[in-house]
Amino acid sequence: AFNFNAGPAALPLGVLQQAQQEFVDFAGAGMSIMEMSHRSAIYEQVNNDAQALLRELFGIPNNYKVLFLQGGASTQFAMIPMNLLKPDQTASFVMTGSWADKAIKEAKLFGQTSIVASSEADKFNRIPDLSGIELPSNAAYLHVTSNETIEGTQYAAYPETGDVTLIADMSSDILSRPVDVSKFGLIYAGAQKNLGPSGVTIVIVREDLVAQSPKSIPTMLRYDTHISNNSLYNTPPSFSVYLVGLMLKWLKERGGVSATEQYNRDKTKLIYDTIDQSGGFYRGFADPASRSLMNITFRIQTEELESLFVKESEKQGFIGLKGHRSVGGLRASTYNAVPLESCKALAEFMQDFQKRNG
Ligand code: PLP
Repeated sequence: AFNFNAGPAALPLGVLQQAQQEFVDFAGAGMSIMEMSHRSAIYEQVNNDAQALLRELFGIPNNYKVLFLQGGASTQFAMIPMNLLKPDQTASFVMTGSWADKAIKEAKLFGQTSIVASSEADKFNRIPDLSGIELPSNAAYLHVTSNETIEGTQYAAYPETGDVTLIADMSSDILSRPVDVSKFGLIYAGAQKNLGPSGVTIVIVREDLVAQSPKSIPTMLRYDTHISNNSLYNTPPSFSVYLVGLMLKWLKERGGVSATEQYNRDKTKLIYDTIDQSGGFYRGFADPASRSLMNITFRIQTEELESLFVKESEKQGFIGLKGHRSVGGLRASTYNAVPLESCKALAEFMQDFQKRNG
């Protein structure tokens, strides 16, 4: 199948095959990694290796911690204000669409929030211009959604926030391109798009930020609990962490994050070029300057043609091209593990569909 699902998303065949090979007997232990104690030396190695590889590939400085948590990125929407928003502070947000909105709604449960820029007036078809944004003087942090999975927009550059902590939801674009991690206080991402299966959430956090968490919050929702226990405070999603480790090895073998970015650019160019050269038959949803390398959103002239496109594409082995119900139209998710060949096949299908229906 040509898997363009928005998440959980495609995994590399080689990763799945290695997992299959090791499924019943991991590292000669005579049992599956799933059956092993998370306190065993073997699992601890899996946990530590995945962390170390993520540090290496993403260039994470030494004063940052890497955590493997549960509850999805959605739990981070609440955990961040619980840990980092003090009563006299404001949590600031850039409002870019569906996922930023969810993050804001959760922060509101815990304190004051402000939206410093928004593209709502343009139906979230772009990342707002952030040059010269003004943050409240009591801002605890500025939260950005690095890639809006539903609208198909992505930051080309992150805002300068001076002394104010920058926080990013990178659920749908982590490791798709190099990032200067030292610009951020905290980065989080559900693994199920670029990094592996669902069930584990990656948090990268600067140590000094989490030294001051309020004492009143539940143990499992405190970052310091997981930091002091190396993500092994309670039973971790061990099979998911193991698969994240395999995904990271795969990424490293392919040349790391810079090579992956180039590959992603080559992949998405095939589809964006098809849209741009269609003479208006296909219309990209996102403003070209905010186009995502991960989720390509587009429309066809009529909803009937869009339905026909989905139906015909499914018959030819394309999966997941129907757009999210809140935006409509079509969406091709081109995460790290989606091969160039799938994008080429999609571009060809699009051109053929236009010839027959244009
Ligand atoms: N943030 C973004 C940008 C997403 O795309 C998603 C899921 O699609 C989420 C957050 C929510 O992630 P989870 O399902 O892991 O809670």
